Amino acid sequence: MASVTLKELTKEFKEVVAVNRLDLEIKDKEFLVLVGPSGCGKTTALRMIAGLEEATSGEILIGDRVVNDVSPKDRDIAMVFQNYALYPHMSVYDNMSFGLRLKRVPTGKPWPLNTRRAFSKQEIDRRVNEAARLLGLENLLQRKPKQLSGGQRQRVALGRAIVREPKVFLMDEPLSNLDAKLRVQTRAELIKLHRRLGITTIYVTHDQVEAMTMGDKIAVMNAGKIVQFGTPEEIYKKPKTIFVAGFVGSPQMNFLNMKVVSSGTQFHAENLGLRIPLKSDPKSEHVIVGIRPEHIHLQQTERCVPITGTVYFAEKLMSETVIHLSIDAEKNLVIKVPYDLSAREGERMQVYLDLDQIHFFHPDTQERIEL
Ligand code: ATP
Repeated sequence: MASVTLKELTKEFKEVVAVNRLDLEIKDKEFLVLVGPSGCGKTTALRMIAGLEEATSGEILIGDRVVNDVSPKDRDIAMVFQNYALYPHMSVYDNMSFGLRLKRVPTGKPWPLNTRRAFSKQEIDRRVNEAARLLGLENLLQRKPKQLSGGQRQRVALGRAIVREPKVFLMDEPLSNLDAKLRVQTRAELIKLHRRLGITTIYVTHDQVEAMTMGDKIAVMNAGKIVQFGTPEEIYKKPKTIFVAGFVGSPQMNFLNMKVVSSGTQFHAENLGLRIPLKSDPKSEHVIVGIRPEHIHLQQTERCVPITGTVYFAEKLMSETVIHLSIDAEKNLVIKVPYDLSAREGERMQVYLDLDQIHFFHPDTQERIEL
């Protein structure tokens, strides 16, 4: 087991800075999710940790050891990719044991006796059977990949990584080839597996639901940098920037540009008939108010402000209804309400913004302000 530490890790591809001075510490046994939009540098960061890509500058430590110059096979890591690339002509057992069978260690004797197999047949058998048991593959060991479902193939790819008993797992969108149902199921299996094995894991995804449900910690990346690092709860409840606030949560957080009005020592944010009290002076003429669709209610609560609009569109999802409420010609508020609520297009509706769930951001820096 081991921690992974990145110090000012940078990768430049000519003029493209794919990863920009990344600082990150993943503790022993932790499950870290690297999440961010396409092209933000997640895969490049993971490939540098794996040793498949050379860092332009900065350091990578696995445990206390700097591994920048250590070859991938000696880094004690195992990688699982989106494309699980099993050998089609080999059985599940052979696919899982292949890497172990190939691994050789030096003997100190002259060639051709200078290396020997690293693992005995018994040891390979033990590891494959153990991984197969963990992954529920015991009855499939003699099958070929084409005789397996997509989910079973992905489990074989995981098994191939597990048998190596690595210090660190690196996973690059391992579920994205699976259909929606299997994805949810395999996601749960992966979490349980991590709890049982306790292997430090870095998991790359652009799917925020995976990030929020799987990670002990999440690092949100944008344009080569980490914009926020924290627990899923911290990231949901206290997003540091408008980017993070908009990236995490579905449907997305609503943002309203509001004017700051002062009367004596009291400050308010005003727009669209809304008047939101501020606890202190934001020292800006405007603030961006953010509120998540699930924090706009149909019933009045103790601390809320009302707003009225016209139902523009109502989407019935499986367990909820998402209403797009038109507040004026340009602004829609998105609201999440229980499934059985019927909302007709064109209908007038009054809703209530929960004052305890409002976020404020500075319009210029885009950063969170506590007001
Ligand atoms: P995705 O979710 O789409 O896989 P990502 O966040 O994993 O994206 P990377 O694949 O790490 O992003 O790419 C980061 C940036 O580096 C992108 O702008 C990409 O075009 C660029 N890049 C990646 N690999 C190379 C390469 N070998 N040569 C040049 N540019 C590259």
